Amino acid sequence: MISIGVPAEGKDEPRIGLTPETAKKLVKAGAKVTVRSGAGLRSHFSDQDYKDAGATIAKSDADAVSNADIVFTVRRPPLSIAKAMKKGAALIGMLDPFSDANELDALAKTGVSLFSMELMPRITRAQSMDVLSSQSNLAGYKAVVDAAAAFERALPMMMTAAGTVPAAKVFVMGVGVAGLQAIATARRLGAIVTATDVRPAVKEQVASLGAKFIAVEDEEFKQAQTAAGYAKPMSEEYQKKQAELVSSHIANQDIVITTALIPGRPAPRLISKAMVESMKPGAIIIDLAAERGGNCELTKPGEVVEHGGVRISGPINLPGTVPVNASALYARNLLTFLTPFIDKEAGELKIDWDDELVQGTLLTKDGKVVHPNLQPKPEGE
Ligand code: NAD
Repeated sequence: MISIGVPAEGKDEPRIGLTPETAKKLVKAGAKVTVRSGAGLRSHFSDQDYKDAGATIAKSDADAVSNADIVFTVRRPPLSIAKAMKKGAALIGMLDPFSDANELDALAKTGVSLFSMELMPRITRAQSMDVLSSQSNLAGYKAVVDAAAAFERALPMMMTAAGTVPAAKVFVMGVGVAGLQAIATARRLGAIVTATDVRPAVKEQVASLGAKFIAVEDEEFKQAQTAAGYAKPMSEEYQKKQAELVSSHIANQDIVITTALIPGRPAPRLISKAMVESMKPGAIIIDLAAERGGNCELTKPGEVVEHGGVRISGPINLPGTVPVNASALYARNLLTFLTPFIDKEAGELKIDWDDELVQGTLLTKDGKVVHPNLQPKPEGE
């Protein structure tokens, strides 16, 4: 019988990688599911909910994982969890693969196979396993809701007997998954929304959400999207033109949500200190790129900085502030990834090590770090 274990997350992580819904499906597929007592509470899933789904409750993390063939986590686990697991068992989570290489080495040496969901190839077959999308979508939503709550004015235009309340102006910079949801949310709240990106494919999407697209649409812009659908780093000349456009636009904005990222690089710097100084007191910037260095020069990750009456917030783990939905979507991403490897008839786990999605996400196996992007570079490179 396949055994799946779920330990509790650390104190800063309210999400969980298994919900009663996915537990029920795994039990139905013939798996034994064990959850550490209280592990789902911060997403409002009680031990009883998991029991009703057919799972067993374990008293400790070690009890939850020691017999498991597969362990689900949200974050990179502490070494103690990997050590408590069977050699050759697998752990699937968002393991932040490019940070703390020594720690990753130590985890590899336990013999556990680690899978990092952030590295899931962005191909059509894997869309339902794409944790970056499932979590960024919620982050984009929550950024606007948080900005609206902190903003001392209303967002929609209101015509009342006492006079008219003007609509707030929201500017979204970077229109990937998070940016699109930020636009949609700000529109639902009645704001006047503009958005910018360097990828031309975005233009139509912005218009279809009822927002206005503004960008430097030169020759370079036409080539800015990679085959994988991501943005390329832009030339200095383009960045200068972009900065000119942004500075004339941003001075009139009430709320700015920034989400611009380039894979494998620090976040592009799109808002300078001078641009912040041109904004009105009371304006709000929410910088979703804070963890990758920030799109705004004044952003401090995890803090709200006030500068000339403008508040710049650099939230970390926004999906964790909507843990009920974030856990539900993340747990479904994990379930979809695992399901093809459950051999229901044999009652065994059969991971297809040649599968593109397995190879794309596998970080460690048989005591070693095996992912091609994590190998030491040959000398001279
Ligand atoms: P991301 O988080 O890497 O970047 C966010 C946005 O920032 C992107 O739209 C990017 O173009 C933009 N950006 C980068 N540099 C910029 C700059 N200098 N100025 C303004 N904007 C800048 O992107 P993402 O949310 O991961 O999505 C990237 C693309 O991948 C989208 O087209 C999305 O639809 C696509 N996607 C595909 C799949 C799939 O097929 N499985 C899944 C998710 C997303």
